[in-house]
Amino acid sequence: MKVLQLAKELNIPIQELMGIFRENRMRIKSSNVKLDPAKVDMVKRIVRSRQLSAQKQEQVFEAKDIQLDDRVYRVNELVSVLDLALPELMKFFLKKGLLVTINSEVDMDTIKEVADFFNISLTVDSEEAHEQIGLKTKVLEIEEESMKDAQESSAVLTRRPPVIAIMGHVDHGKTLLLDVIRQSNVVAREAGGITQHIGAYQVEKGDHKLTFLDTPGHEAFTALRSRGAQVTDVAVLVVAADDGVKPQTEEAIHHAKAADIPIIVAINKIDKPGANVENCKQQLTEFGLVAEDWGGDVVMVPVSAKQQEGIDQLLEMIVLVTDMLELKASETGPAKAVIIESRLSRQKGPIATVLVKTGTLKVGAFFVVGPFSGKIRALFNDQGQQVKEAGPGAPVELLGLSEVPRPGDILQVTKSESDSKALAK
Ligand code: GDP
Ligand code: MG
Repeated sequence: MKVLQLAKELNIPIQELMGIFRENRMRIKSSNVKLDPAKVDMVKRIVRSRQLSAQKQEQVFEAKDIQLDDRVYRVNELVSVLDLALPELMKFFLKKGLLVTINSEVDMDTIKEVADFFNISLTVDSEEAHEQIGLKTKVLEIEEESMKDAQESSAVLTRRPPVIAIMGHVDHGKTLLLDVIRQSNVVAREAGGITQHIGAYQVEKGDHKLTFLDTPGHEAFTALRSRGAQVTDVAVLVVAADDGVKPQTEEAIHHAKAADIPIIVAINKIDKPGANVENCKQQLTEFGLVAEDWGGDVVMVPVSAKQQEGIDQLLEMIVLVTDMLELKASETGPAKAVIIESRLSRQKGPIATVLVKTGTLKVGAFFVVGPFSGKIRALFNDQGQQVKEAGPGAPVELLGLSEVPRPGDILQVTKSESDSKALAK
């Protein structure tokens, strides 16, 4: 689609559209340029969300306080408990691109958004729900804090690699896809570097680095998130073309939506005789995931992990989608990292794979994690090579723990040993 056409379709002035390109660093010089579907899609999404927030500003809803139980609600229930007009609520969902009926179930995260939009202050009856509904997870708080610190100390924020979880039904090809991606694109492949399974790894695509969670996607994702440590920026949903949407596919969609992260669909096993890509797309529409060539906004890439087909396109799409998220972090300042995996090794003692969120982890630094303090004795990258430091987005194995921390725990570097001991207490 050309720029002019898009402006017409969106019914916005061409200058405004060019402005959106500039703001999002898309290098589009003239209105005659042909845009690829993914870019068109991004722009549509941006315009839609702007319109939604503009509308939010226009409409003034009377403030209300409402108490809810911690559970999912059906749309028609919400209308009555939140005291809303059904058409208004439906309009909200429609604007968000969610396909719902009066019988659809709405989770707490979405209810919270509804409440925000309609000027309702919610009280939810359960501790856990409070945490969830707080919208801010531990990790997001870290990110915000470090942004603030960085601004104050005028530290430089640099792009950080996105963190990607591969999710989907059992046997649909998650493990093979992860392996194929790793083999084809391992960062800084050096002689003697053997790939180690440390729970996460990085690959390079052009000049972008991508961090993949290599723990069985689904469980890692759910476990971390349930502890308020959401690390994933985008979910790649693997659906086998010969099997279609299955219960764990549905579950994965539900988790990704609750986490409010973009979903990219990899329709896998297209080499199989029974493969039916269109059928998969059709089934996915029932869950609100509508492919671009079906008039929706979800990137779907047909792949075959086995024949290594479509892998490059998939990586390109991941770069494109995550680029729009403008993920940034500071390489300086107090380092913080999230525990992704942990275990006790007979020779080495407690070991954890951590994902650096902000700052740079350095060998020799003191830290605190949960109730334990420690000193970083060694760091290893995803190829088993010893490294001296690790910056934002990098997964590393860390030695120097006194106990085995839990996935989701936050490791925080301190200035001195006494600081880390005091904090641990
Ligand atoms: P997981 O349970 O989602 O991790 O699935 P696996 O990666 O273990 O794959 C399950 C089975 O499907 C294995 O036998 C794979 O070899 C096979 N498989 C995975 N991807 C493909 C593919 O693209 N084509 C074909 N024909 N088989 C595949
Ligand atoms: Mg597997």
